[in-house]
Amino acid sequence: MLKPRLSVKEILHQDPDPKQVHTIMGWVRTFRNNQFISLSDGSGPDVLQVVLELGKFDENLLKRITTGACLKISGKLVASPAKGQSVELLADAVEVLGDCDAEKYPLQPKKHSLEFLREIGHLRMRTQTFGAIFRLRNTAAFAIHKFFQEKGFLYIHTPIITASDAEGAGEMFRVTTLDLNHVPKNEAGEVDYSKDFFHRSANLTVSGQLEGELAAMAFSKIYTFGPTFRAENSNTTRHLAEFWMIEPEMAFYDLEDNMNLAEEMLKYIIGECIKQNDKDLDFLNKRWEEEERQKPAAERYPMNLLQRLQFVLEHPFERLTYTQAIEILQNSNYNKKKKFKYPVDRWGIDLQSEHERYLVEKHFQKPVILTDYPKDIKAFYMRLNEDGKTVRAMDILFPGIGEIVGGSQREERYEYLLQRMREMNIPEKELWWYLDTRRFGTCPHSGFGLGFERLVQFITGMGNIRDVIPFPRFPGHVEF
Ligand code: ATP
Ligand code: MN
Repeated sequence: MLKPRLSVKEILHQDPDPKQVHTIMGWVRTFRNNQFISLSDGSGPDVLQVVLELGKFDENLLKRITTGACLKISGKLVASPAKGQSVELLADAVEVLGDCDAEKYPLQPKKHSLEFLREIGHLRMRTQTFGAIFRLRNTAAFAIHKFFQEKGFLYIHTPIITASDAEGAGEMFRVTTLDLNHVPKNEAGEVDYSKDFFHRSANLTVSGQLEGELAAMAFSKIYTFGPTFRAENSNTTRHLAEFWMIEPEMAFYDLEDNMNLAEEMLKYIIGECIKQNDKDLDFLNKRWEEEERQKPAAERYPMNLLQRLQFVLEHPFERLTYTQAIEILQNSNYNKKKKFKYPVDRWGIDLQSEHERYLVEKHFQKPVILTDYPKDIKAFYMRLNEDGKTVRAMDILFPGIGEIVGGSQREERYEYLLQRMREMNIPEKELWWYLDTRRFGTCPHSGFGLGFERLVQFITGMGNIRDVIPFPRFPGHVEF
């Protein structure tokens, strides 16, 4: 067994002590003047400075201390004269656990482009930027569980392989064990799925909502937090083929309760990240400010990353209906001067991301919750309003991101639900179990889906969703 040891993060909190010998392990970020190693083990944003006394170590050993090499070092912690750190490790012994050929190692101690780093996804986590991003992702994920657990929600696992594409939330990935070179066909010449593993066609889930609703009809308040798959053939900075979604579902919640919960949750997660990862955020903030400086003044965001997070924490989200939003958009100078690619010319159109961003970034300059969308542009399970035209939907729109949350009060009335399914050609036979909940003890209930990566994008200020998940999947890319 390797001896218990302190992490870099822990040792940086220790007081200097000339008597105690510490052993520390990690990877070399840089090695300067044959004397100063900055060592990282990913435990936090800070590196440990290790000092090698000149002349004390063998030349051959010093040559092997290169960027990326893995070292085991014992030494004593002393007060550091250098600025930016209170202690450093004075090395007694250095052992190379893993050499790293500096000629071949793709990560050099210099600034690499995000595109290049995406190509070396197996190594990019060792950089400061991705270290910060994935530590924040970790904090946000844990905060989500804390938030819901403290409120008495039950964490439920919905299936990853499903039979139905009920919601039509997106294109699905098929799951099959059929031999694709010899696909069995029925008499009509169609693929015979009765010969497939599940004896019917199966897909990867696009949402756990419908199953989540079943659970809410037993436990009252539940949430899921799991992977979701959509064969989105759109190469955007907001879509992945595999992403993580948080889907709470609550019995006895109406749309307003639902909005309140979502707003409280988003603020809680952001607050936890600010509290626990302040240095990571400071680092990403500097990165953000540098990037903003490259842009023409008119395109710059009026706040830096930290200010924007703080702003979201401190201000209530703006709530308005789809109908009110359409009025604002229609009457905007933007629309009149034909600056939208898709003009806003009538009630009933689906909002494009340019419209959402106009509302959030130009008009209100804060997060916005839009409610009561036309039923024709929303899913079948959303509760019909008295007007017969709109449904109790809500989308939360964030600056720089657009839609971050999509939710609704669910249609709990059997007859209404059945009618909507028929109107929208949703196969009743496949969803018999979903309809059953409306037959056996139905109740008013609500829920929403939060795209986890979009939230991490907002928190870290990263422009591309591919940079906030360790191993992104998108059209043409399934490496690592
Ligand atoms: P969009 O219009 O942006 O494609 P959507 O309407 O398809 O979103 P929903 O089906 O409501 O989204 O899914 C709930 C949430 O999941 C969204 O609010 C968003 O945060 C996230 N989401 C949806 N599709 C993706 C994707 N392909 N990659 C990452 N996150 C996604
Ligand atoms: Mn979509």
